[in-house]
Amino acid sequence: MSTTDFDAYKDYLNSYHPGSDEFHQAVGEVFSDIEGFYHDHDKYRKANVLERLMEPDRIIRFRVCWEDDNQNIHVNRGWRVQFNNVLGAYKGGLRFHPSVDESVLKFLAFEQCYKNALTGMPMGGGKGGSDFNPKGRSENEIMRFCHAFMSELFRHIGPNVDVPAGDINVGAREIGYMYGQYVKITNRWEGVLTGKSPIFGGSCGRSEATGYGVVYFLNNMMKKHDDDIAGKKVIISGAGNVAIHAAEKCLQKDASVLSLSDSKGTLYFKDGLSAEELEEIKRVKLEERGALSDLSCGEYKKDHKPWDIEGGDVAIPCATENEMDKDGAKALAKHGVRYIVEGANMPLTHEAQKVVAAENIIYGPGKAANAGGVAVSGLERSQNAALRSWPLEKVDTNLQKIMSDIHEKCCQHVDRVDGTIPYQKGANIYGFKKLADTLVQFGVK
Ligand code: GLU
Repeated sequence: MSTTDFDAYKDYLNSYHPGSDEFHQAVGEVFSDIEGFYHDHDKYRKANVLERLMEPDRIIRFRVCWEDDNQNIHVNRGWRVQFNNVLGAYKGGLRFHPSVDESVLKFLAFEQCYKNALTGMPMGGGKGGSDFNPKGRSENEIMRFCHAFMSELFRHIGPNVDVPAGDINVGAREIGYMYGQYVKITNRWEGVLTGKSPIFGGSCGRSEATGYGVVYFLNNMMKKHDDDIAGKKVIISGAGNVAIHAAEKCLQKDASVLSLSDSKGTLYFKDGLSAEELEEIKRVKLEERGALSDLSCGEYKKDHKPWDIEGGDVAIPCATENEMDKDGAKALAKHGVRYIVEGANMPLTHEAQKVVAAENIIYGPGKAANAGGVAVSGLERSQNAALRSWPLEKVDTNLQKIMSDIHEKCCQHVDRVDGTIPYQKGANIYGFKKLADTLVQFGVK
């Protein structure tokens, strides 16, 4: 790659990562934001940081062989992408979903490097998972899969090497099975996974952290723009851990929640979701792992995304990557939504982001807004290393402070554009500067 031509990074991606669309999208978003900053600092060009930040340290791929309840043998693929560890041991979640492939995991691991840099904690970026589909699988099948997955992953991780956590379809239950297998195989009880249950070393407040953190970040954004969350109407997509806890924190802050959604449709609450309804949703979605369409509350709109709901002030996409396209963003803008803040990783397509910028919607990117989850994972590591556990109040106070610090970091390198803070550019420059400066100081390695 020519070190004088910035755009050559695209040729590099096409040659070395052909067909990795999500990865190209994530890199393109960061690199277009940092272009001016990069050109202002010749040391980055000399150290060829662009190429070094595009190439993962290593990608580990393995076979996961497991038996279902009818004694059929299945083979899935498992991966761990160890993207960059210059800022700390690799850190990032594990996702079990049929859409998981190398492109998705490279994009997630790449994003995680910048997100983790923003937390201010010593954490590098990684991500992993499997194309295993847990939908419709029994408890025993999920346990056997998790054990089989860890039987291979254990040799690549360690409390100072790589510390995975959960992501889509990997919560405290799966982490419990995987941690149990790690302890059994290695005979070591150590902070090698986060998101554990608090009864065996997990942090209080870890399950709530991502969703609560998103709303803390939103609150900071609003204050910065002389606004307030109380009384606002919020459109939320997703119905997993992040969406449900974002909804819970919105209610605690006197905002009203108009929707949640799953892969089959949207649950709409014309007069706002009540605390009792939220409890029912928590039970059905998080404990029983049922579908939103099974619920008796709200109005279920089959095959609908929530973006065309009228009357919202804020949208919080919490489902998955590229869930909001240009039409979704246009519908939100048309109905007067002022803020979009991302609970999921890269939920907006590139075209949707362009609409958001053109409409001057105030936009909190996932790598900043949803960093509360990994930040509390960082607090869990501290607790494990010290063989102590903190009360919930201490974790939550820390989380609020971390989110407000991340908000400030996003404002450090950018000026307002048409009266609003370009948070995405601010987050990307902050993360890039930290990573690139470290690479320069480490020398060629
Ligand atoms: N999967 C989460 C994320 O996207 C959490 C990662 C972690 O706690 O390590 O940030």
